[in-house]
Amino acid sequence: MNQQIRDLLTFDSAHIWHPYTSLERPLPAYPVASAKGVRIRLTDGRDLIDGMASWWCAIHGYNHPRLNAAAKAQMENMAHVMFGGLTHFPAVELSRLLVELTPEGLETVFLCDSGSVSVEVAMKMALQYWQAKGEPQKKRFATIRNGYHGDTFGAMGVCDPDTGMHSLFSGFLVQNYFADAPRITFQMPWDESDIQSLTDILDMHAQQTAAIILEPVVQGAGGMRFYHPRYVARVRQLADQYKVLFIADEIATGFGRTGKLFACEHAGVCPDIMCVGKALTGGTLTLAATLTTADVARVVGSGDPGVFMHGPTFMGNPLACAVAVASTRLLLESDWEQKIRSIEARMREGFAPIAGLPQVADVRVLGAIGVVEMNAPVDVARMQASFVAAGVWVRPFGKLVYIMPPYIISDTDLDRLCAAMCQVIERYEP
Ligand SMILES: *Cc1c(COP(=O)(O)O)cnc(C)c1O
Repeated sequence: MNQQIRDLLTFDSAHIWHPYTSLERPLPAYPVASAKGVRIRLTDGRDLIDGMASWWCAIHGYNHPRLNAAAKAQMENMAHVMFGGLTHFPAVELSRLLVELTPEGLETVFLCDSGSVSVEVAMKMALQYWQAKGEPQKKRFATIRNGYHGDTFGAMGVCDPDTGMHSLFSGFLVQNYFADAPRITFQMPWDESDIQSLTDILDMHAQQTAAIILEPVVQGAGGMRFYHPRYVARVRQLADQYKVLFIADEIATGFGRTGKLFACEHAGVCPDIMCVGKALTGGTLTLAATLTTADVARVVGSGDPGVFMHGPTFMGNPLACAVAVASTRLLLESDWEQKIRSIEARMREGFAPIAGLPQVADVRVLGAIGVVEMNAPVDVARMQASFVAAGVWVRPFGKLVYIMPPYIISDTDLDRLCAAMCQVIERYEP
């Protein structure tokens, strides 16, 4: 390792926070020189096959010429202008696309900077909606256990109460209502008892509940669990029946990852409010959006103070919007449905050899998401090092070792990725 890289790592571990880390006990971070396609190149020249798509984002792989060209063209024009009192083509084009592609009924778009912020925006919309309707006591949210909605305070308040950060920040977080996590998986036959816990909560607390918020069909960082689309369809019915709004957090599931463009399509329903983010710009820049129905928008605008009370500095950033337009068009032009089906089939086959291992509790695949749940939490640093040694980038958390590769991954690379998963998990010693 040369001196420059050594200095970089020394400074990094002494001064820089990484996601969920401690500066007292820094975990190794691998220095990246560049990334292209499905390869992440480390500064020592090693190429890793990317299994993470940088947390659901890089669906077209890295350094894509079309996304780069969109960013460059927009940069030559303007990188940013404020969105208060000004508008521009990239924001309008993107919003037009989002209204067109998302479930019928979602007609307005709030552009924001990150997934967590789009969840805060969704929750504030629901609160202002009931305020305007003359039902200001509807201030709580109902959700399901094992959810993950982001790291800001509103979002944390609807993350799983045990694995989330509730006890740590108790007193600061609002008490929300948590139904049991769905138990009927995507493939199992539907059973109405699965929705009982949520129904009970609404029976008791609908008067105080502004909205049901959940990740449709796939729960991401809260456990990587896949559940029955009928659950989502029932949530839509219950929301109407009990007069609460339905917020779908599609930040992880959006843009094809589960085999449908949006996971709500598995259930054939339209939420009242929907959050998108992550793959929105193909992993190039941070951007998210909150979509709502004309009804929610009209009611929010009719109440006091007559406007929606949110407006981030970088709202509608033209650079991010231009790349998001390019990324979305690129996706639509590709044969993404066929590609996701093929990734799904290949992962199922690729994971088959480890399904019966004693250290493995469950193997599950849906769309371009492959999950191996171990019997006990893994030593992340040690397992990650084994993956790097095997030439792939996989970052486990807790008991979960999972991949969600860029959609453009070749069969050969995907087979190598699955083989590395099998090999590392087989040889892993707790
Ligand atoms: C990642 C994620 C978020 C938070 O998005 P950030 O961009 O990290 O703030 C919210 N909800 C879901 C379902 C996510 O996967």
